[in-house]
Amino acid sequence: MKAARISKILVANRGEIAVRVIRAAKELGKKTVAIYSDADRDALHVKMADESVRIGPSPAKDSYLSMGGIISAAKDFGADAIHPGYGFLAESAEFADTVQSEGLIFIGPSAETIRSMGNKIKAREIIRAAGVPTVPGSAISSDSVEDALDTADAIGYPVLIKAAAGGGGRGIRICNDRQDLQNQWKIARSEAYSSFGSNETYVEKYIKNAKHIEVQILGDGVHQIHLLERDCSIQRKRQKVWEEAPAPILPGDVRAAIHQSAVDIARNIHYSGAGTIEYLFDTDENRFYFMEMNTRIQVEHGITEEITGIDIVKEMIKIAEGNELSITQQDVASRGASIQVRVIAEDPENNLLPNIGKISRMNWPSGPGVRVDHGLSVEYFVPPYYDGLLAKIIVHDASRIDALKRMARALDETAIEGLKTNIKLLQALSIDDGIMAGEFNTNYFEDWLRDNGYLKKVRS
Ligand code: ADP
Ligand code: ADP
Ligand code: MG
Repeated sequence: MKAARISKILVANRGEIAVRVIRAAKELGKKTVAIYSDADRDALHVKMADESVRIGPSPAKDSYLSMGGIISAAKDFGADAIHPGYGFLAESAEFADTVQSEGLIFIGPSAETIRSMGNKIKAREIIRAAGVPTVPGSAISSDSVEDALDTADAIGYPVLIKAAAGGGGRGIRICNDRQDLQNQWKIARSEAYSSFGSNETYVEKYIKNAKHIEVQILGDGVHQIHLLERDCSIQRKRQKVWEEAPAPILPGDVRAAIHQSAVDIARNIHYSGAGTIEYLFDTDENRFYFMEMNTRIQVEHGITEEITGIDIVKEMIKIAEGNELSITQQDVASRGASIQVRVIAEDPENNLLPNIGKISRMNWPSGPGVRVDHGLSVEYFVPPYYDGLLAKIIVHDASRIDALKRMARALDETAIEGLKTNIKLLQALSIDDGIMAGEFNTNYFEDWLRDNGYLKKVRS
């Protein structure tokens, strides 16, 4: 590996993750360039970077997704590397390729890795070849509904239709029987095309009682290690809301086997950078299956940092400079328990619809074991154009039960005025019996929302 010192990083993102990357860069002595859309002129990440540049109008396609504009900005400001954060261009193989061919460093894995893991069908094939079980389902893209029906008949209903290029919880539809699959097939294909630019779809068995367990990995292209697991089963619309490390209630042998399988996968693909291997643990069958891989920093990386003491974003930057991993597997130990909640701009009194507004006051928790990652400031207008994630509140304590109490305390200290948020729901979760017991699966939170009258309509 050739070492290439990075001196200035353009952060091709916004919000809390842009702030997070700027912090890591500063601690490593690197200069930073922020990009912003018109809606983000006054955003925190713009104030925190050494330099900043307007990249375009508010819609993401004209700003944070503008590859040409971002690369020109990097060159104009003399940046030698680009950190993509998550979402936007983070998993665009084309972007990673272009960054490199323009002589800049992409802080992430190779375009080839992004391309193969970004396609869920291809990823399943590679992972099966590495000897790791994948969720039962299609081996190839089901081009015709007949293929899909055959696969579904073989594995049994209910099944999911999944977009090969899907992400962010979108591009997934549940089908309860043949008729249902027949009805939804065409819509799923065209939706996949309009949302992700590819109509490739496949069928996967729907695991009814599952925990979402994922393993953080780090690699330098030669060495690959895991940084233990996270439980991200508390979700709405297939997006995580509450995350924990380590995962509560997981049989010890399963935990070890999942870690090993993640390292096997990472080695098999010679992984370089930070990544996450996502699994479903079927609690009825007591077995786990590979679900997908995310070739980027994940929203919930902070809880892993808390229990391991490893700064994952700094590691990403050092790896991109061509350094070997500074940690070995033996150095990775778990200390205590960490929990993260996602504070989201949504209205609990109105079916959790997205909310926008100008922040008039905000009060973040602090004190022992509390970390808040956000990208906000008073007077900033939270716009309608992007993801509704406002902040992440992360706690760490000696045991899970202590961490739960700490989360409840931290949420009591939290207040945001000027727009509606899910804070009261998070408060309720932090003292919920099912959460306390650790006995939850991926349906838990939506059931809870319906039972408590927050969701009027049944969502699929
Ligand atoms: P994580 O897996 O890190 O928990 P999420 O699923 O919450 O991340 O996604 C993080 C952000 O990235 C969200 O804004 C989500 O909408 C976006 N995102 C993730 N994957 C894709 C994708 N393939 N296409 C578009 N947006 C995506
Ligand atoms: P994304 O790329 O959008 O993150 P994933 O494939 O990771 O998509 O799935 C997102 C979520 O959808 C999972 O965390 C899980 O809750 C649910 N899910 C996905 N596949 C299945 C499945 N086969 N059975 C049950 N739930 C699933
Ligand atoms: Mg996922």
